[in-house]
Amino acid sequence: MGLSGGREYLAIPGPSVMPEEVLRAMHRAAPNIYEGELHELTHSLIPDLKYVAQTEGHATIYIANGHGAWEAALANVAGPDDRLLMPATGRFGHGWAEMAEGLGADVELIDFGRAAPLDPDRVEEALRADKDRKIKAVIATHVDTSSSVLNDMAGLRAAIDAAGHPALLMADCIASMGCDRFEMDAWGVDVAVAASQKGLMVPPGLGLVFFNDRAAEVRKNMQRVSRYWDWLPRANPEIYYQYFGGTAPTHHLYGLRAALDMIRAEGIEPIWARHERHARAIWAACEAWGQGGPLRLNIADRAHRSRAVTSLRIGLPHGPRLRKWVEKHAGLTLGIGLGMSEEGDPSGGGFFRLGHMGHVNAQMIMGLLGGIETAFVALDVPHGKGALEAAAVELAAV
Ligand SMILES: *Cc1c(COP(=O)(O)O)cnc(C)c1O
Repeated sequence: MGLSGGREYLAIPGPSVMPEEVLRAMHRAAPNIYEGELHELTHSLIPDLKYVAQTEGHATIYIANGHGAWEAALANVAGPDDRLLMPATGRFGHGWAEMAEGLGADVELIDFGRAAPLDPDRVEEALRADKDRKIKAVIATHVDTSSSVLNDMAGLRAAIDAAGHPALLMADCIASMGCDRFEMDAWGVDVAVAASQKGLMVPPGLGLVFFNDRAAEVRKNMQRVSRYWDWLPRANPEIYYQYFGGTAPTHHLYGLRAALDMIRAEGIEPIWARHERHARAIWAACEAWGQGGPLRLNIADRAHRSRAVTSLRIGLPHGPRLRKWVEKHAGLTLGIGLGMSEEGDPSGGGFFRLGHMGHVNAQMIMGLLGGIETAFVALDVPHGKGALEAAAVELAAV
């Protein structure tokens, strides 16, 4: 007997679940890209994107995944031999730093490992040591999707200011935007990057870069910026073509319009609160399971856990068996562990991740947890009791 008929749930940290509204909006004939509805629709996206990022600054859209958004942001502020400081947590900070090195930048890396948040004091020290004020920007990951650590961006801004350093603060919000609280202007973030396929609920393909006037000044002093990545024409298009430096990502724009309508209708504060509540339910269940078995949350301190993604360790042989079981028998796909062990080390299979970003509600969270509990029973994985009850208590407290 199979139990996986019915709608599947892709609970990986992106691409996330796409709402019917988004899918329906995209299901249409190609629009005219030269005039009419598509132009009006594109203009209308900008203020709503800024609302999601909580900024009065500028918003630009690239046809790209998150890696493209990384490069877009860097290409506007850092050229060959420019210095950047990256306090890296988990895997994704290293990825952005490598992208910067590919552009010729000189990156100073402070590595905080795979299970801890960055420490703003260490960043302050590094900035104080930069007597000639050569570091152009501090680049950091808000939520690292591999370790599921949540970093303190406002604390990072305070560290930069305490050091009296002019460096820009650039944040990778690809995993967090629309899930974990993020307030670009209030927190003093100068550049933020995001992508369509996580909290924004749209298929992969749109990279978003937000920047303020301080960052725009740095861009103006660059000797040259690649035409495609240059954010100036995109943020201030005189003709429609400049929004995308070529053909518009037509269907993604319809999808994004539908997603932003949903975000506006729910409101960003309630969206953050919903993610918070779901995350607490997941943490409560995982902590209960851990009482009687090998499951552990990767980030021990709740204050440093993301509300969008949860990284877990269960060891071998349980990890791969669990993921296979829920996929085959429950219609549920869990995320693989990423960057939590050295490449090629088989123990990496003992890690897995739960994506709980975007279009997710309480019954999906309970289904996710119930699916895992069922696999534990089926596979005889030792686990503590009362996990679903503990999750229910969190969700009931609305
Ligand atoms: C997903 C993600 C990326 C990479 O995005 P792609 O679309 O896969 O290129 C970068 N940073 C973070 C924090 C992410 O979650």
